[in-house]
Amino acid sequence: MLVIRGKSVFAGIAIGPLALFHRQSASAAQRPAAGIEAELQRFRQARQTAVAQLQALYERAVEKVGEDEAAVFEVHQMMLADDDYLETVETLIGSGNMSAEAAVERTAQQFAQMFRAMDDTYMQARAADVIDISRRVEAALCGCQDTDLSAYDGVIIGADDLGPSETLQLDTDKILGFVTSGGSTNSHTAILARTLGIAAVVGTDTPFHDDVEGLTVIIDGYTGTVYLDPDPETLAAMERKAETAAAHQAALERLRGLPTQTKDGKRIDLYANIGNTGDLAQVAEHDAEGIGLFRSEFLYLENTTYPTEEQQFAAYKKTAQALGGKRVVIRTLDIGADKKVDYFNLETEENPAMGMRAIRICLSRPALFRIQLRALCRASAFGKVAVMFPMIISLDEIRRSKAMLRDVQEELTAQGIAYDKEMEVGIMIETPAAAIISDELAKEVDFFSIGSNDLTQYTLAIDRQQTRLDDFFDAHHPAILRLIEMTVRNGHAAGIWVGICGELGADLSLTETFLRMGIDELSVSPAAILPVREKVRSLDLRDVDV
Ligand code: PEP
Ligand code: MG
Repeated sequence: MLVIRGKSVFAGIAIGPLALFHRQSASAAQRPAAGIEAELQRFRQARQTAVAQLQALYERAVEKVGEDEAAVFEVHQMMLADDDYLETVETLIGSGNMSAEAAVERTAQQFAQMFRAMDDTYMQARAADVIDISRRVEAALCGCQDTDLSAYDGVIIGADDLGPSETLQLDTDKILGFVTSGGSTNSHTAILARTLGIAAVVGTDTPFHDDVEGLTVIIDGYTGTVYLDPDPETLAAMERKAETAAAHQAALERLRGLPTQTKDGKRIDLYANIGNTGDLAQVAEHDAEGIGLFRSEFLYLENTTYPTEEQQFAAYKKTAQALGGKRVVIRTLDIGADKKVDYFNLETEENPAMGMRAIRICLSRPALFRIQLRALCRASAFGKVAVMFPMIISLDEIRRSKAMLRDVQEELTAQGIAYDKEMEVGIMIETPAAAIISDELAKEVDFFSIGSNDLTQYTLAIDRQQTRLDDFFDAHHPAILRLIEMTVRNGHAAGIWVGICGELGADLSLTETFLRMGIDELSVSPAAILPVREKVRSLDLRDVDV
């Protein structure tokens, strides 16, 4: 047995076989061509491999989710048999003297551009498909192995680190837990693990090699300990611990449907953070009272090209409808920093966390922003949708964002398309600048939601991704708590509601502090809903000895 220590991301116990994460290497489009015949041969072989993979995926998906949902894999197989596509690749290899990788990549970009330029929104959405099938062929060409979980019912993923988009590509139904040698507890991958409610330990500093694939591993997310190939005593002790945890979870069930209210009657809204519509099941399961943060950028991370207005509209509408009349706060695109999307072609930066991200991208690329705002406004006709702008530092940014929103709304009115004219508009308070001028910002918006993850990073000047700095990181630093208190005070003075949607909102040791500050809403990962409700209901703010 090997005992490994790291940092816990989610308190839970997971026991299962270890599957190592294999990273797809970046496109090998730079490889020199090995001669026309050889490259044509390689391409045809890789195409066949890709078709066979898609057939296997189709069969698995039919079994799991039914024919309708599986149809996409059939369409992808058809696209890989399309004469125009095949001819373009082979012509580029033949007359362009290109490697198979380069020819496939060039064809993918040409076809994607052609699809995007079409009027029909269905055809526009095919751009993502052509990129997807081409990436599959490229992976087959370079012999890059996909992380194949088909042999397992449930697994623990071992990796050096996982990016948010890599995590999203995994079959999360099968994942019992994560162990990563790198990574920090505040990274978006850690946040994803929390959203999914799965045990995870990061920053173990112990890389795994192929020889441990398939061994039993236990993650104790309460202590941040990982046991590789456990002895029978440890296994038995951990199974008992898992049973106790399950019993506490079952006890929390009695809180379903009860208000999130202190003994003396102070009630708050307890909402969930989600990344995509796949998380809606968790929202219902854990009895969230609304959605306080829909990280819309995950729609972009999951895609191989820009999601269209229709794609986004479908996701937002589904969420609004699933929540009935309950509030759904959709945050506009927060790409940048650790959330990288290749097709945005963002320049490499020395300090990406302080660079072109979030609202800065949206205001610099109005065409992109407009599509998202249209999708969002259209979805507002189907529920109680609120829009929230991230990474705000100034009044000017709010005014410009609101002006774009108004333009979009006028355009929809002119087109006779319905939207909610009362839709709330809020901002994230996640920069020290925003917290400090929150008295002025409050006059411009309907609510504030405090992003404690970034607020902490920017206030303490500690990179949230940097695991080596965890020892210097103090989530309860008085500067953070003062900024939060100031924001609540300024928000209330202007008559608006103030919530917290960063990870600190789920910190039970601060729940009382937040309530005493007068916080109106806490938005946490779905699995944290009932524990926070239990905490709030145990408090009595009339007690003065705090
Ligand atoms: C935050 O910064 O606290 C936040 C909620 O946004 P994200 O974690 O997605 O950056
Ligand atoms: Mg943030």
